[in-house]
Amino acid sequence: MILPKYSMGIGDRFALQGRAQLAAFVRAKQMGVDVTPVWNKSNREHLIVHSEPASTRQEADQAVAALGWKSPYFVDADHIGLKTVDRFLNSSDFFTVDVADFIGKPASEEEIRSFVSSCAKYARSLKIPGIKATMDVSLERIEQIARKYLFAVLEAGKIYRHIAAAKGSNRFITEVSMDETDQPQTPIELLFILAAIAGQKIPVQTIAPKFTGRFNKGVDYVGNLRQFEKEFNEDLAVVAFAVAEFGLPPDLKLSVHSGSDKFSIYPIIRRAVSQTGAGLHLKTAGTTWLEELIGLAEAGGDGLAISKEVYREALGRFDELCGPYASVIDIDRAKLPTPSQVDRWSSSEYAAALRHDQRNPQYNPSFRQLLHVGYKVAAQMGPRYLDALSRHEETVARNVTLNIFDRHLKPIFIG
Ligand SMILES: [Zn+2]
Repeated sequence: MILPKYSMGIGDRFALQGRAQLAAFVRAKQMGVDVTPVWNKSNREHLIVHSEPASTRQEADQAVAALGWKSPYFVDADHIGLKTVDRFLNSSDFFTVDVADFIGKPASEEEIRSFVSSCAKYARSLKIPGIKATMDVSLERIEQIARKYLFAVLEAGKIYRHIAAAKGSNRFITEVSMDETDQPQTPIELLFILAAIAGQKIPVQTIAPKFTGRFNKGVDYVGNLRQFEKEFNEDLAVVAFAVAEFGLPPDLKLSVHSGSDKFSIYPIIRRAVSQTGAGLHLKTAGTTWLEELIGLAEAGGDGLAISKEVYREALGRFDELCGPYASVIDIDRAKLPTPSQVDRWSSSEYAAALRHDQRNPQYNPSFRQLLHVGYKVAAQMGPRYLDALSRHEETVARNVTLNIFDRHLKPIFIG
């Protein structure tokens, strides 16, 4: 099973926007650009909205049937580990094997020694095509990297073999992710992580490192763009080198877990990918839920009332909702409007505050981030929220499609 060159992770909290999301990929295809949709939903999301992984599969299959999509598509068990993977085995054909929690845990001395000696031939001045400076690699450096990452890769091997035993190898796509951690992995660390992955014989097709900078949920990138550009290009070079050197799958590519909407790095990624001919997987799933709220607000009447109610409730439950996401949001509480201010807003005022349009002076990133993590409120409204979505399906779908197409597919893959 092969993941095509360009792919994008999508998905939505309530599994209702499958068609509206896929419509954006259809539009890209009509313009001659093939991007493979990958529906993803993490275990955390399933727990919060009390949904089952089978619902994501159903959403994807139904959207594909409804729109007559003939190209590949996948359903990703996002950020799974040994403890959480089993419920995804039936419905997924893409697994994001998350081993970030195992970084820094020690592998046995014997495993470390054997890994370092298997890499001994790289302990020199390494010249990697596409990277200007030579990398000075020593046995000590390889050992340091092994002490930090080998245990995590061994865990990835266990998870991969567990999935392969259940589904059959070659029946699914494997991604290895290490992005949910504080410290970014440097290109040289990535190189030896890939060596270890090859050693575990994991047929990895996408690798998600932690990049430099902050990737807060639903808002733009915060960090040094020149540094990001340098590291991203070096990571691409390392991936190409590792494929040739370690015999990893030839279609191995970087996966950017964007936390959605990292607009300022999109041109950098596009430039790097088109210059090198590399493939790319971009995950940007979380904001479809915000487009639902925008659509409801724009519909006015009961739709606008529900979107206001979600905000009032979310603000009242600030700590509870923000807790699980504390490391990936930066909300300035002083910038949050009071619920009674919001109650006086028109449809367009609500939409303008929430929509990710940085040129609009009414756009409020704190408001947006709080609502981003506030989907639990809508989940608990249950049928009342879901019925509103179906009553206002057209307005909601228009926003969902436009968001995926204009703000993501176009800048990254179409230009
Ligand atoms: Zn991630």
